[in-house]
Amino acid sequence: MSWFTRKERGIQTPTEMKREAPDGLWYQCPSCKHVMHTREHKVNAYTCVKCNYHEKIGSEAYFSVLFDNAEYTELDANMLSGDPLSFEDTKKYPDRIRDTVKKTGLKDAVRTAYGKMDELDIVVSCMDFNFIGGSMGSVVGEKIARGIDHALQNKMPFLMISRSGGARMMEAGYSLMQMAKTSAKLALLSEARIPYISLLTDPTTGGVTASYAMLGDFNIAEPGALIGFAGPRVIRETIGKDLPKGFQSAEFVLEHGFLDFIVDRKDLKDKLASLLRMLQ
Ligand SMILES: [Zn+2]
Repeated sequence: MSWFTRKERGIQTPTEMKREAPDGLWYQCPSCKHVMHTREHKVNAYTCVKCNYHEKIGSEAYFSVLFDNAEYTELDANMLSGDPLSFEDTKKYPDRIRDTVKKTGLKDAVRTAYGKMDELDIVVSCMDFNFIGGSMGSVVGEKIARGIDHALQNKMPFLMISRSGGARMMEAGYSLMQMAKTSAKLALLSEARIPYISLLTDPTTGGVTASYAMLGDFNIAEPGALIGFAGPRVIRETIGKDLPKGFQSAEFVLEHGFLDFIVDRKDLKDKLASLLRMLQ
């Protein structure tokens, strides 16, 4: 005998009725598991209200955090990658690009825009990690170079927000050339005495760290960001030693003199604006 019996048979609830809240209304912090309303999380610049964990966000979110009234003009919005090496791994490179464009709604791993930040003119290039690991292919290099050109022509400061796994292997040598190209453009910006601020976010590694991400007049980072060139395993095997605790965290890198300061994302806009006003 069962304890409970249904009086009516065939009662069914459609799946969409089962949810108590619509999708995406709540955000759970992956670090401390605290649950907050997505609106609260967004107002807090996508950081956890409890433990200050900085959620990995993309260009759209950074633009909305930085530009006044989230108003900006995008440059080279439709630039798409070619396939100079007819590269194929598990997929043909053009197929991978097409699938990623469809999945992410992005055209490549960086977007550049200009607008007002606390009433100051600024050009911002921001990487999107969702697009093939934020890898630096020809489009990334070219868009950054053109963003710097725009900063030069209009005498606006340039902000680079990096989040990248490094070079894009599908473009091999072409990818590595972007390091030299962006560095040369940044040298022109420096000659023109226009400020360049580089913000390193979690993670910034490989050829990006080895070029534009570390060339800022100010190199700054978000708390807890992983910053490095090669991965810990490669380094451990090369030097044959255990690595110190907290190795490659923004805090460790700051302590060793590679960063100027660490900035909480909630203070990012204010800090950048006061820094740029000091440099004017
Ligand atoms: Zn948290």
